[in-house]
Amino acid sequence: MLAAIFLVFLVMCLWVYPPASLSVFYGPLWMGGGLAALTLTLGYWGIFRFRLINILLSVGITGVLLYGAYVVLLHSASPSSYLTWLLLGCLIIFVVGGATIGSIFGLLLGAGLFALTITYPPSADLVLPWMTGMVGMVGIGSVSYLLMRFIEDNILLHAQTNDQLKAARLDALTGIYGRAATEAELRRSIEHAQKSNTPLSILVTDIDHFKQVNDQHGHATGDDVLRSFAKRLRRNVGGSGGIVGRWGGEEFLVILPSMARPDAFAMAERLRHEVSVAPVAGIPITASFGLASLRRSEDNIDQLFARADERLYEAKNAGRNLVR
Ligand code: GH3
Ligand code: MG
Ligand code: MG
Repeated sequence: MLAAIFLVFLVMCLWVYPPASLSVFYGPLWMGGGLAALTLTLGYWGIFRFRLINILLSVGITGVLLYGAYVVLLHSASPSSYLTWLLLGCLIIFVVGGATIGSIFGLLLGAGLFALTITYPPSADLVLPWMTGMVGMVGIGSVSYLLMRFIEDNILLHAQTNDQLKAARLDALTGIYGRAATEAELRRSIEHAQKSNTPLSILVTDIDHFKQVNDQHGHATGDDVLRSFAKRLRRNVGGSGGIVGRWGGEEFLVILPSMARPDAFAMAERLRHEVSVAPVAGIPITASFGLASLRRSEDNIDQLFARADERLYEAKNAGRNLVR
């Protein structure tokens, strides 16, 4: 989309400034290069800082602009067309390189132009257009700098906020969804199931005699077990589109979208087996599972969870390491 816009823009530029009138400055050529660089930057890499490709592009654009100035000054030609490219080029350097790289190359460009105009002084009648161009460049450079700074700061802020929001959703110990996110996911899944008239089941699972793990092996080992337990649940549920969250302590919720009771029961049996079949973080443990499936239109999040929780206690009372 962006590339298309710039292509149209390029064609328009070529139409307004036909190549013949600019042949000596290779205007359209570098214009095309500049816009391609711009498109590449915006379209494929986003706006970012300090990437080699952006520095190279800035070097290229600055080089072409300085070469253009050299040719114009050498031929004592009117700089009006060139200055248009100069201003646009200055803007493109900032967009391509970002605020920092843009400033560096903007200053280099300014210094280069100053040196060139001293070395090849323009004739008296061309001094004013050159000076106007320079002032314009400083203006465009300053505005571009402020604009890019603003954009970059906002992107950075956005990224930070995003990271913070993500971290807040996850449980610090296990790295899976925390309580709030799990509840939100459950609410969303229920709404989706009711709207699309598809089944939904949930499992509430609780590690058996977990207090003993802490008492016998220490709290740190207990934490390891929780981490590995979460990982094992996720690994075995992941493929089916299931969601695993930590409800609290050593109690986890598994959301199984599109699964009616028989499938969900089989899944719970599989999870129960996977937990008990091999030690978790070096500790042999078992877990109990309570299963509840969404009933047509009558269930809300509290009712559904309450039923799963009741089932979990049935499993505990019936001797643990069971699905109910
Ligand atoms: P049951 O089979 O009836 O579930 O017995 P249990 O010992 O697993 O249940 P209980 O509720 O008595 O004990 C849960 C224990 O889980 C107590 C608590 O210290 C421990 N626990 C809760 N959160 C954490 C945690 O984040 N890390 C560790 N290491 N232990 C935790
Ligand atoms: Mg327990
Ligand atoms: Mg518990």
